[in-house]
Amino acid sequence: MNVSIAIDGPAGAGKSTMAKRVAEKLGYFYVDTGALYRTVGLHVMRNGVSPADEVSIKKLLRDLDISFYYAQDGTQRMSLNGEDVSDAIRTPDISHYASAVSALASVRAFLLDMQRNMANKHSVVMDGRDIGTVVLPNASVKLFLTAKAEERARRRWKELREKGGEYDYETVLTDLIGRDKADSERPIAPLKAAQDAVVLDTTDLDPEATLSEILRIIKERTG
Ligand code: C5P
Repeated sequence: MNVSIAIDGPAGAGKSTMAKRVAEKLGYFYVDTGALYRTVGLHVMRNGVSPADEVSIKKLLRDLDISFYYAQDGTQRMSLNGEDVSDAIRTPDISHYASAVSALASVRAFLLDMQRNMANKHSVVMDGRDIGTVVLPNASVKLFLTAKAEERARRRWKELREKGGEYDYETVLTDLIGRDKADSERPIAPLKAAQDAVVLDTTDLDPEATLSEILRIIKERTG
């Protein structure tokens, strides 16, 4: 039987870093669902369509072929109509587009089956905003990772700078707070902890301590 680990939480809480490491450790597939919304956001942006224009976006979805595949090193790569967009989707502009299009019912429905199919076929560690509440309500383990906004923004700012960009910390913080607010307040599949999720605040935990706490919780819950 396949095991599914759901990791939800706000932006910059360390979900993807942890999910990747947990997947590696347990030999499961890592599924970064944010990358799916980012890829839709990129497509919408490239077509010059407003992320609020659901009628036009529905039309764009008809010709959209999104898939993920795994590179030799196990990392998830995103393909948009045959093009590898894994790096192109990692910009602050695309974060904004992803968050805006993710509020649309048609976009969420379009991506839902893809996520569930992965979990049906494989044991997965899936990270996102609504995995424990909507995508995999029967997940074997549900975690909600969070941290103070200032700490999450600091981590995100550091990550962006390491990639070589010039980013201002205050702007990163404002963007992150705005995105969390939009993700939490949208009517469909808002960002929230499932009732049966274990909430883990990582503000004062380093990555190694966070990882061992997550592995401990998984072991406790799955035996
Ligand atoms: O996780 P990441 O920051 O890459 O996600 C980008 C955006 O995609 C989020 O801000 C959120 O609006 C959306 N998202 C979502 N549901 C998910 C994963 C991501 O709505 N399961």
